[in-house]
Amino acid sequence: MSLVMRAFTQLYPEAPLTFIPSLEYSGQFKGYRANIRRRGSSIVVRLSKQWENISEDIQIGIIQELFVKLFKKKAHTLNMDLYHNFMRAVHEAVPKTQSHPVLQESFQRVNRFYFDGMIEQPNLIVKEGLRTLGTYEYGTDTLAITAALLEKTRLLDYVMFHEILHKALKYKSNAGRQHSHTTEFRKREQAYPHAELLEKELHAFVRSKQLSWF
Ligand SMILES: [Zn+2]
Repeated sequence: MSLVMRAFTQLYPEAPLTFIPSLEYSGQFKGYRANIRRRGSSIVVRLSKQWENISEDIQIGIIQELFVKLFKKKAHTLNMDLYHNFMRAVHEAVPKTQSHPVLQESFQRVNRFYFDGMIEQPNLIVKEGLRTLGTYEYGTDTLAITAALLEKTRLLDYVMFHEILHKALKYKSNAGRQHSHTTEFRKREQAYPHAELLEKELHAFVRSKQLSWF
């Protein structure tokens, strides 16, 4: 039985198998990312290349997390625990070697104010472009923010807060995905002072930057 099939039948023993499962290891994903898609009568699970060398028990765990997300039907298995333990170990083993003075100041400010200084500093990197303002990747413990925000302290801190919140809430219901904006996430985000106004300012800022490129 294929890995995807095994993952499914162990997760939902009562459910009929109504799809054709397939599994691909993709070089397009970084770290330990993954996704799942329905394509007609088949369901395709795609895991990053790194997953190929990981034990099948742990792979079954991440595939099951993806199924839970796809079918929105909660279930819990030992394999899912194995997967979470594995990701925690990967996360803790990551060397923290990258930083940037402006991002570090912002990180320390936001960490002190909103997280009681309880968040361990991740790798901090500056990236080009505005396609995404910031990202946080759990597997490599890397928080990236666009260079365009370096001189916009208020907006920078707000985006920093958003990304630290990803780290604070960790991989919780975050199987292989970089972003997970759960209800809890949104609630905590909206508690940031003037969150609504800052959201508007951010959108206006992105728009103005894009127009100036023409
Ligand atoms: Zn996010």
